[in-house]
Amino acid sequence: MRELILMVARANKSDVNAVRVRMKATLLAHLGVSPGDYVEIEGERKTIASVWLSDEKADIIRMDEVTRKNAGVKPGDRVIIRRANPVKATNVELLPELDLPVDPGFVSYVKKEIQGKPIIRGNLVPIPVLGKRVLFTVVKTDPGDVVVVSEETDLKVYGRQTVKVSPKAVKYSDIGGMKDVIDKIIKYVENPLTVSYKLAEVGLTPLKSILIYGPPGVGKTLLASAISNETKHYFIYVDCRYKVDLTDIFDEAMKHSPAIVFLDNLYSLKDTEALTFDKLENVTVIGASRTNQLRDKFNLEIEIKLPDKNGRLEILQILTRKLPVEADLEKVAEVTEGFSGADLERLVKVALFNVLSKGEKITTDDLLNAMKEIRKKGLT
Ligand code: ATP
Repeated sequence: MRELILMVARANKSDVNAVRVRMKATLLAHLGVSPGDYVEIEGERKTIASVWLSDEKADIIRMDEVTRKNAGVKPGDRVIIRRANPVKATNVELLPELDLPVDPGFVSYVKKEIQGKPIIRGNLVPIPVLGKRVLFTVVKTDPGDVVVVSEETDLKVYGRQTVKVSPKAVKYSDIGGMKDVIDKIIKYVENPLTVSYKLAEVGLTPLKSILIYGPPGVGKTLLASAISNETKHYFIYVDCRYKVDLTDIFDEAMKHSPAIVFLDNLYSLKDTEALTFDKLENVTVIGASRTNQLRDKFNLEIEIKLPDKNGRLEILQILTRKLPVEADLEKVAEVTEGFSGADLERLVKVALFNVLSKGEKITTDDLLNAMKEIRKKGLT
C-alpha cells in the first residue's frame, strides 16, 4: 500500500470541526485517492478523515485541532498517511465529555451530524450542541474499528461519564511483562464472579475490591481495556479524572451483576468517601492508581512495577509485532532499564519514523539511536 510521511500544519478556518484534511493534488495522486476519499493518519495514535485538495506548494497535510488530537500530533510533527477503507457501521456508541440529557430526539440529531463521517474507535468526534462544540469519544464500533456511520447504523449515546466497553480492542496477549497481574485478576476477580452462586452455597462471596498501583505508563489503562474485552461479566470503566457519581455506578453494577467496575486514575477522585464497597454483591471494584494512598479502602493490593528485562523484551515484541523489524530486541531490552511500556512505545515510534522515509526495516541501531533521541528531548 502506498504511504506518505508529511509534516502537519494547521487547518484553514473553514475546515475546523469538519474531520477533513487537505493536501496538494500530486500527493493525493501518489496515495491513489480522489477528493472525498478517506485516509488513515498515523501519528502517536491513529485517526481517519476525508481528504480534500489544497492549492499550496509545500508537502504538508493540513489538519484541524481535533484531528491532530486524535492522531496525537502537533503542527510540525510528522504523520504517516495511507488510503483507508472504512466499512459501514452497524453499531456505534458515543460518550460525551459533558453530562447531557439524552433522549431519542437527541440521538437522531447526533446521528445526522455524523452520518457519512469516518470514525475510529477511541477517537474524539466534535458535534455542535446548542451552539457549542462538544467532543464525543467513540467507545464502540462494529464491525471493526474503522467505520462510516450511515442511516442504518444503530447509534447509542451515553448520558454520562461511564463506559461499558473500553475504547481499545486490546486482549491480554497485547500486554507485556504482566503475567502475574493478569493471573491474579483471573484468580481473584474473573473466576470468583463466575462461580459466585457456588461460593454463596458455602457462605463465601467474591472479593469486593482490589487496588492496582504503579508508576505512569506501565499499562494500567491498557489492562482495563484488556479486562473489558476478555471478561464474561458486565464491565463498567470509570475515568476518575471526570466528575463521577460512584453511588450511581455501583447501583448500575449491582443491577447487572456479576460485574466489574474499573476505577481508573483513582488518584484524581474527589469524593474518596464514596469508596465503600460493603453493600456490593457479586461486584468487584478494581481501582488503578499511581500510588497506594487509598490502600485502606481496598481488600487486596497489587503493585505493577516498571518492567524488568524480560518484561521489556515481551513489550518490545508486542509493540513490533506488525512492524518491519530486524533487530536484536533482547539487546534493546537489556539497555532500556527504567523504561515503562509507554516509554518503549515512544522508542519504537521514533525508530519507525526514522526508517519509514528510507523504506527500510528497523534495526537494532535504529532503536538504540531512537533511545538517545528521546533521552535528549527528556521524553523518558
Ligand atoms: P498512567 O498512570 O499515566 O495513566 P498507565 O499505567 O495507565 O499510565 P497506559 O496508559 O496503559 O499506562 O500505557 C500507555 C501506553 O503504553 C499503552 O497504550 C501501550 O501502548 C503502552 N504500554 C504500556 N505498558 C505496556 C505493556 N505492559 N505492554 C504493552 N504495551 C504497554
